[in-house]
Amino acid sequence: MQLVMQLVALLLFCPLAVALSGAGRFWHITDLHWDPDYEAAAAAGQACPSGGSRAGPATGLWGSYLCDAPWRLLVSAAGAMRSRLPRPDFVLWTGDDTPHVPNEKLGEEKVLHIIEKLTSLIKETFPDTKVYAAMGNHDFHPKNQFPGKEHRIYNRTAELWRPWLNDTSVPLFRAGAFYSEKLPSPRTKGRMVVLNTNLYYDQNDKTAGEEDPGGQFQWLEETLTNASRTDEMVYIVGHIPPGFFEKKRGKPWFRSGFNERYLKIVQKHHSVIAAQFFGHHHTDSFRMFYSDTGSPINVMFLAPGVTPWKTTLPGVNNGANNPGIRVVDYDPDTLQVLDMVTYYLNLTHANMMAPTWEEEYRLREAFQVPDGSARSMQTVLERISKDPHYLQQYYEFNSVRYDLSPCKEDCRIDHVCAIREVDFTKYNECVKTSSSASAIINVWLLLFSLLLGLLSPQQVL
Ligand SMILES: [Zn+2]
Ligand SMILES: [Zn+2]
Repeated sequence: MQLVMQLVALLLFCPLAVALSGAGRFWHITDLHWDPDYEAAAAAGQACPSGGSRAGPATGLWGSYLCDAPWRLLVSAAGAMRSRLPRPDFVLWTGDDTPHVPNEKLGEEKVLHIIEKLTSLIKETFPDTKVYAAMGNHDFHPKNQFPGKEHRIYNRTAELWRPWLNDTSVPLFRAGAFYSEKLPSPRTKGRMVVLNTNLYYDQNDKTAGEEDPGGQFQWLEETLTNASRTDEMVYIVGHIPPGFFEKKRGKPWFRSGFNERYLKIVQKHHSVIAAQFFGHHHTDSFRMFYSDTGSPINVMFLAPGVTPWKTTLPGVNNGANNPGIRVVDYDPDTLQVLDMVTYYLNLTHANMMAPTWEEEYRLREAFQVPDGSARSMQTVLERISKDPHYLQQYYEFNSVRYDLSPCKEDCRIDHVCAIREVDFTKYNECVKTSSSASAIINVWLLLFSLLLGLLSPQQVL
């Protein structure tokens, strides 16, 4: 009894517990990439279609690191979400539903069928929950070719997502697959802005040469200006992020002009943007945004994918991941991110024994920060940048504990520069100066060890 009283007192008087007791929670899932033919290939002893030429026979019951997700894995992820947090305030689902196979193996109907199946799975998992869904570059046919104007696929997707969309969002979605809505909770003055950043992808031939495809930039500016007028805080959600891929040096996704414009908008309107949530990388990372004077003003969280698929992007070494899903704790009044919990499935263990979704890490605990604000994430970045323990920990989380090899100096530069510099010019400078700094350190270390070699016989004697 006394113990219970002590616990109650602790809960009442611990400011953190008070802060978290009023916290809201939501799920962020991304990059499910269902491979509908995985099971048939496995039964026939053949390679999975999403594995391309590199895969041997698909053998894992729950999936393979060379392949996209079998249906069984997606159902298992949905079950884990339902059992860990069945009643979230809302769900963010940031796209990429179809397998990594050539366009010829898909087609418009097949892509829409896959989007429909995943929409149903999420709807059945969270029947009464608002879902904010964004399109990924694989949710179109041909992939990546999103136009900045009306399209059949936008219309059909708007129909599939109709139960989640407000009436005012439907015409906007049909015209360019972006929309903005007030958050459902009566406790919050928050707003969700869902973007179609596939319009800015450098692989998208439909929008090359356009200044503001779909008028999305102008609309975003107006939406953020209105939010400021009405005293709302905003989450920005999308699939393809600006900036660089941390697993391949010098690899951006946006065209240069689009990257610049996005960054300028965040800088101008940062005071109403509480945080940004994106996917596409399949890895777990984040991106910092700074003012002109170098103060941290915003953060973008990149959630890990559910698919374990090892990327075929040339130059990426061993780029698979364990399936991951994420809960975000937030303050409903301010939309401030309070904490983030990432859950994961160790695919190797799942295939050997049973699928167990475990807690991977909690942001505050793992990086010793008070919350997920831009200021705290700047502290996280500094820890990763300077302390080998935090760098290695971050690196293991980056692939959801798939790649546990040591993150050495080149790896440190790739990750730290990608997190710190979303701007193309500044990223290139970061890589250049960090590389030359590390080269100088290497020369000094070499000289020092040579000197030690010269001195050591005398010391031993
Ligand atoms: Zn993806
Ligand atoms: Zn993608």
